[in-house]
Amino acid sequence: MNLYIEGYRSQNKKLVEILTAAAYWYCAKLLGIRMVNSSNLDVDIKMTKSLKQKENVYGYCHIIGSLSRPREFCIELDGSIEHDMEQILTWLAHEFVHLRQFFRIELYDYEDGTTQWKTKRYKINSRSHLDSPWEKEAYRLENKLADEFMESYYE
Ligand SMILES: [Zn+2]
Repeated sequence: MNLYIEGYRSQNKKLVEILTAAAYWYCAKLLGIRMVNSSNLDVDIKMTKSLKQKENVYGYCHIIGSLSRPREFCIELDGSIEHDMEQILTWLAHEFVHLRQFFRIELYDYEDGTTQWKTKRYKINSRSHLDSPWEKEAYRLENKLADEFMESYYE
């Protein structure tokens, strides 16, 4: 995995060090060691100040480059100073679950706003979004991933 971290607070060495360690940890857990060592996976982490105020999300993940064989991704996170590290690491874990869904082509967003999940196509509005199977999977895994990472990192 080629990892790039940019944007707000990306001059903060400690923050970048933790995000880097976490990203590789999540990659190993979710995609396997082979993808950690592969140069055929690009992940840009973009830190944004007040993303929540601007776009009403704490993070999102989208595909850049090929849609038929997704290997380049951008993860944007709300890096505002008031969020503690544990929170940011949990959002990163959540977005990494979405990255895996895209990577495996389980999840696919159509231009018309509908979403393919595995064999079913959904029309999602903001109310049903959190109940969607791809969000349920991300919420189910985010704390476990972040906790495991922090245990290994801070021990
Ligand atoms: Zn999500």
